[in-house]
Amino acid sequence: MARASATSWRSWRNWSGLASAHPTQVMAPTSADEVADAVVAAGTHELRVKMVGSGHSFTDIAVTDGLLLRPDRLVGIRTVDRDAMTVTVLAGTPLHLLNERLHGLGLALHNMGDVDRQTVAGAISTGTHGTGGTWASLAAQVAALELVTGDGSLVHGRPDGGDDERRVFEGARIGLGALGVLTAVTFRVEPAFTLEAVEEPMAWDEVVDRFDELAADNHYFEAYWFPHTDRMLTKRNNRTVDDAEPLSRLRSLVDDVLLSYTVFGALNRVGNVAPGTIRPLNQVAARALSARTFSDASHRVFTSPRRVVFREMEYAVPREVGMQALTEVRALVEQRDWRISFPVELRHAPADDVWLSTAHDRASVYLAFHVNAQTDHRAYFEDVERVLRGYDGRPHWGKLHTRSAADLAPAYPHFADFVALRDRLDPDRRFANRYLDRVLGS
Ligand SMILES: Cc1cc2nc3c(=O)[nH]c(=O)nc-3n(C[C@H](O)[C@H](O)[C@H](O)COP(=O)(O)OP(=O)(O)OC[C@H]3O[C@@H](n4cnc5c(N)ncnc54)[C@H](O)[C@@H]3O)c2cc1C
Repeated sequence: MARASATSWRSWRNWSGLASAHPTQVMAPTSADEVADAVVAAGTHELRVKMVGSGHSFTDIAVTDGLLLRPDRLVGIRTVDRDAMTVTVLAGTPLHLLNERLHGLGLALHNMGDVDRQTVAGAISTGTHGTGGTWASLAAQVAALELVTGDGSLVHGRPDGGDDERRVFEGARIGLGALGVLTAVTFRVEPAFTLEAVEEPMAWDEVVDRFDELAADNHYFEAYWFPHTDRMLTKRNNRTVDDAEPLSRLRSLVDDVLLSYTVFGALNRVGNVAPGTIRPLNQVAARALSARTFSDASHRVFTSPRRVVFREMEYAVPREVGMQALTEVRALVEQRDWRISFPVELRHAPADDVWLSTAHDRASVYLAFHVNAQTDHRAYFEDVERVLRGYDGRPHWGKLHTRSAADLAPAYPHFADFVALRDRLDPDRRFANRYLDRVLGS
């Protein structure tokens, strides 16, 4: 079999604990050649193949019963091109490691999501995004990539290559793990920069009425709405040339406990036992959050730890109906007997050109819904999903949703191109699993 070392890592679970796998075989390749050998050998044994990232998808997208490829020996920066301002990184590199290495080189990614535990390949494969900026998603920051396809060939995706390479580039930036195993990803980078973060509570009406202005006036704007209240916490991150003024360690620890959802997790547990307490407790939590301003290296401002395990659904709706959709969700929450302790997160993104991007060809507002990992999410998520589908919403590929190929196809102008690319790169469905059968067809 392949040269990569076999391990006994046979029982895999995702971060939220909702998906698990018992692969027949586990390997930890160290190079593109070892990935290619492993894929070819798996083919001769008729095993399906999946490289996992950090298991931070909430869906069963990374599950396999065949050969599971671990990411942890395919790590590190391969090349830095300061003329082109690009950095090529091995696919299993965790984002926090990439950020630290880039910072050491005086470089940075343009934008990030709110945590940095994911691998680069896992993060781009599902369309992981932050808010605002020129590009919100990591996939839209990709300049080139390489991947091993179903027959073990190493192919490249480049925007300026021939027709085949261009199509690989278009499709594999958000490839859902369906097109092959990514072995390296080239990101566009920029000189390291400092962000000033201004976080302050605002009334619901102010955020909803002024959303376009807040989004336009700040490099990276987001807000959290506390269900059962008319309060939001807003976060405005702007580039600054002033010296960084990070939070003190104590303030940072106290605030992390609030912003890492620890409080909301605890509230949820209280709420499960005594549901009547959630509404008043949310009022208290919403008011307890105080304003703060600090500045730091961009990657330290974009991300914060998540100490409580939760379940999440997130939808992107067209920017112009974002606040209308949110208002309808609020009315639904008030009609139902739900007690929701986790805030609803609002972000936005400019349009991009990635085929399966939730922001493909349209500026978008993202609305994200969370419950504690022990809480049954179905009634809440499914009813909210129905509302957001009414606004032509597109679900995050790595977060919980109930959509399938038949109704996703009309939502993406290049869905058929993606399926055609999959037919070319993986005709035997070496990389298929149940999730991909559902969202792409078999
Ligand atoms: C606490 C938390 C916070 C989050 N915050 C955000 C956020 O701010 N914004 C956002 O958009 N999302 C967010 N997410 C979702 C998360 O970023 C995505 O689900 C992401 O895909 C997880 O990356 P991962 O490395 O854990 O990949 P996994 O979940 O392990 O895998 C995801 C997919 O990538 C594939 N994959 C992994 N490696 C490769 C490879 N080398 N080649 C081909 N395919 C590969 C897997 O097979 C699978 O299909 C968050 C999730 C959690 C749990």
